[in-house]
Amino acid sequence: MSNLPVLVLNSGSSSIKFAMYEAGNGKREKLFDGAVDGIGTAMGTFWIKDAAGKKLVDQTPPLPSRAEAFALVAAALNSADFPKPAAIGHRVVCAGPTIRENQLVTPQFIDELESYAELAPLHTPIAVYILRESLRLFPGVPNFSCLDTYFHRHFTEEVYTLPLPPEYAAMGVRRYGFHGLSYESIVHELEPKVPERLVVAHLGNGASISAIKNGVGVDTSMSMTPFSGIISGSRTGDMDPGVLIYILRKLAAGKPGTLEAADELESIIGKKAGLLGVSGLSNDMRSLREAIAAGNKDARLAVTLFTRLITKYVASYFAELGGMDMLVFTGGIGENDGDTRAEVCAGLSALGIKLDVAKNKSRGMATISAADSKVVVRVIPPAEDLMIVNHVVRLLH
Ligand code: ADP
Repeated sequence: MSNLPVLVLNSGSSSIKFAMYEAGNGKREKLFDGAVDGIGTAMGTFWIKDAAGKKLVDQTPPLPSRAEAFALVAAALNSADFPKPAAIGHRVVCAGPTIRENQLVTPQFIDELESYAELAPLHTPIAVYILRESLRLFPGVPNFSCLDTYFHRHFTEEVYTLPLPPEYAAMGVRRYGFHGLSYESIVHELEPKVPERLVVAHLGNGASISAIKNGVGVDTSMSMTPFSGIISGSRTGDMDPGVLIYILRKLAAGKPGTLEAADELESIIGKKAGLLGVSGLSNDMRSLREAIAAGNKDARLAVTLFTRLITKYVASYFAELGGMDMLVFTGGIGENDGDTRAEVCAGLSALGIKLDVAKNKSRGMATISAADSKVVVRVIPPAEDLMIVNHVVRLLH
């Protein structure tokens, strides 16, 4: 195969990130990456850097809406300054019960995805918009959807079924799981020696844990939405559903319609909760660690809730997998915060997990378990973009 420029697009609520890779014969070389950030503000940022980190574009444009932001990206990438993409791979966070495979994006596919927008109102409408615009602004270039739920497609019925009457399952209410491209990249990195019983903790702004058997995802902490599972930057994670009803009733009492109350509830459990909510300070682990060092008790409590729940999930997956050969930490916190790794692993000492204190100080790729640990503990940075490029190359052929 000759070298193909493959564009990776990752669109979120306030930013669009992108990277161009040259792909061919097993080669994956990043040519440049960039982002538009601050969508919905009068002064956003738009930058593109080459592989050596040199800024090729550096602007602070007004970005009143997603339309201006994506138009900027498309205009730059369609200009003579950059190679025309041979294909585009989109990270799609959540799909729906009938969309389980990564595939070529067609207008019919986008309509099908849109029909599931209510399942993921914070993600799917954005994905639908960007996919339609991408077909329009990059005419003739094949676009592919790469799902964060794809890695979790082999879940058995008892893992994906939520304990509700069957009419809800028929609407698509089930466990999908997220961060699949990250999990996939960890398995890819471990190949060809993927441990039989593997647990991966993806700890970033959003955080989840997965149980992986022989390279296949068998369980994960997030469910129908990324609100579930362990606590993250500003999300609650698992919580008594009765608490939601209680808050919803309180909100609905002062509102004309329950839909407005539902929006407010969503904002409370998604943007004001988690590490931010409990600490009252920040969703950022670096700030929380500084506050803990300065004696801040609320920051300490927030981080303890976080690490305690990670420990519980890892231990439950130890049971589910019938043991554990390897535990991998990944994501911004997993890669960089030795204190989080040490606190989680201290809670797992009953399973024979032991860290090497000196090795745990390292950042990035490393094995950090002690020589006599019963479980190998590693740190592996995620490589979601590369997984998208791999899917695109596979689907192109
Ligand atoms: P996202 O889910 O947005 O991709 P990241 O994977 O980049 O997030 O992770 C962001 C988190 O990683 C933040 O909580 C940040 O504080 C944390 N983090 C990044 N670098 C460090 C560090 N050196 N020490 C501790 N935490 C860090």
